[in-house]
Amino acid sequence: RTPSSAELIRAEEPVLAHNYHPLPVVVARAEGAWVEDVEGRRYLDMLAGYSALNFGHRNPVLIEAAHRQLDRLTLTSRAFHNDQLAEFAASLAALTGQDMVLPMNTGAEAVESAVKVARKWAYEVKGVPADRATIVVASGNFHGRTTTIVSFSTDETARSGFGPFTPGFRIVPYNDLAALEAAVDETTAAVMIEPIQGEAGVIIPDDGYLSGVRALTSRAGCLFIADEIQSGLGRTGRTLAVEHEGVVPDVLLLGKALGGGIVPVSAVVARRDVLGVLRPGEHGSTFGGNPLAAAVGSAVIGLLETGEFQRRAAELGVVLRDGLAALVGKGVVGFRSRGLWAGVDVDPAIGTGREISERLMREGILVKDTHGSTIRLAPPLTTTDEELRSALETLEKVLAA
Ligand code: PLP
Repeated sequence: RTPSSAELIRAEEPVLAHNYHPLPVVVARAEGAWVEDVEGRRYLDMLAGYSALNFGHRNPVLIEAAHRQLDRLTLTSRAFHNDQLAEFAASLAALTGQDMVLPMNTGAEAVESAVKVARKWAYEVKGVPADRATIVVASGNFHGRTTTIVSFSTDETARSGFGPFTPGFRIVPYNDLAALEAAVDETTAAVMIEPIQGEAGVIIPDDGYLSGVRALTSRAGCLFIADEIQSGLGRTGRTLAVEHEGVVPDVLLLGKALGGGIVPVSAVVARRDVLGVLRPGEHGSTFGGNPLAAAVGSAVIGLLETGEFQRRAAELGVVLRDGLAALVGKGVVGFRSRGLWAGVDVDPAIGTGREISERLMREGILVKDTHGSTIRLAPPLTTTDEELRSALETLEKVLAA
């Protein structure tokens, strides 16, 4: 007898760290935009692994690439070369208009790596005095969970109890160019921001902010690091969210969807004069750039090179935006969307984001709250028009109940 969902949830409790509070659904199978729980109930996945599943669950092209690689070679470590890495790096650099790639695994590792690279660049290229480099970040940011990254978080839950923290960061309000200008000085190695703040609730800066950050960092002679770990790789209707303002950052951070929802793959992608500051022994990762990750990553880039997913995100994004606009005043008090990505503020009188998410789950739609009464929609970019419309109808029904 296979255990029930309730039994599996109970079995986790004593043996699994309680650092998450998942919705009470136990997924056993998935395909495309659909997941199935252990009892065989089906749900539309409107979260897509926080954008790690941009190409859908078990995308056949990616699964095929993974299988092919599993049968040949999975890990070498970087002590040796492997025959998959050159193509992965070359195609990723070409896709993003950059020169070089530093392959890592998780998003947080890419962020940590970028912090190290920016500091080294500041000392070796810009000439900042030793140990004086600063990095300017935005309030409301989410860049990951390591000690250094939570050092510059403004979320007390993420920080409290984890000090002492890493110095060298300045926090300014997001979407405020004047505050950024005031914080940048001769010690500034980099400005690091999310082009759209995902975890904060899909916060989209004003038009001109990203190009303003580009102009300001160029003028100040510091790096512009764009954390596109959640916003990148098709989600917003473009390969990168910075493309909406025609901006090319000095350093680009990618993760999540880069691994196709199969393996953790992240990368720091940058110009040669920036990533070139790293020399042998100064940074690394046993799994970073492993052949399985590289093969899946190359297949992901192959999908993006067709432009089909960016186009789908843009087209379905209109359906999503119009559908949400029709719900304003009917349980929705406001929303922000770009491409197939939305933060939806629900009338707090109807319920918290958590309560709305649970009601949607009971109706066969999986989403996740960010905080307060905001829920986030980030369906796979393979979702069909009918699936998206049906999810919006269910949302309307849940909000009206
Ligand atoms: N950066 C951004 C913008 C993110 O949204 C996330 C995860 O949500 C991260 C970094 C951290 O990625 P990971 O959870 O893979 O460490």
